[in-house]
Amino acid sequence: MEGTNDRRKRIRRLKKLILGVIVAAVVIPVITSIVLGIRVFQLQGKVRELEERIAAIMQEEEVTGVYTTATVEESPRNMSQKEQLLEEGAKEDIGNYQKQVYLTFDDGPSRNTDRILDILKEYNVKATFFVVGKTDEHSVRAYQRIVEEGHTLAMHSYSHKYEEIYESRESFVEDMEKLQEYLYQITGIWPRFYRFPGGSSNLVSKVDMQELINYLDEKGITYFDWNISSGDAASGRLSTETIVENCMGSMDSMNTCMILMHDASEKDSTVEALSEIIEKVKDRGDAEFLPITDETVPVQHMKAD
Ligand SMILES: [Zn+2]
Repeated sequence: MEGTNDRRKRIRRLKKLILGVIVAAVVIPVITSIVLGIRVFQLQGKVRELEERIAAIMQEEEVTGVYTTATVEESPRNMSQKEQLLEEGAKEDIGNYQKQVYLTFDDGPSRNTDRILDILKEYNVKATFFVVGKTDEHSVRAYQRIVEEGHTLAMHSYSHKYEEIYESRESFVEDMEKLQEYLYQITGIWPRFYRFPGGSSNLVSKVDMQELINYLDEKGITYFDWNISSGDAASGRLSTETIVENCMGSMDSMNTCMILMHDASEKDSTVEALSEIIEKVKDRGDAEFLPITDETVPVQHMKAD
């Protein structure tokens, strides 16, 4: 009886052991598989997330890569237009004259831009165009022609709508940056000169002009007003003679002559006066025409802080 009982106990123990081994052999790998499976799933999710993030960054780089502030320091957009043109082989032609005359044209491009450029070309005079934002094909060509022919492409706000631009600092910044990026896209020139619509001494801005001046300063943009007005901003047609008189009248009393003119469709008399102004200035013998560059002493109605 003893022996039988012992054997049964041993068999039961053996059965338990076998069962234990079977359970262990099955359960442990199953649990391990489940745990690893969950981990793999989690990692797949993470990989997908990272892939998406990389794709997003790549796309961003593709569309706005040249505009990220990180690349600004390195890109030619920080070069002055003169440096950029010199790189392209353009020659500097600065003589030794007592007076420097800067012809500046606001509000273009217009249907008169080509006529103005033709006259400047005829006399080999370089000028400065404070342009606004226009997207039609003719205007796009005009911006490019301004740059190609060695004139300075400068900014005069995208919209030229006083109530929008001078509504707040934010709206001014938005408008200015829009124009700057747009001109850069079209011409490859990073414009760094600005003329406030209405001048820095305008009385319509709801924002303190000093705040906007400081902003431009931070951005490395120099603003220019004028000290001679052709008077062509006046509504109604001004005679060619009056425009010539306005431009030449005060030239004796100053050495830096920053002449305000307009490149606008309805300002035909400005175009008609241009040749005469150029000839009269050249006849003086003491004056040279220059486009605005980094070396130009700014004419400003309001001084920066
Ligand atoms: Zn204007």
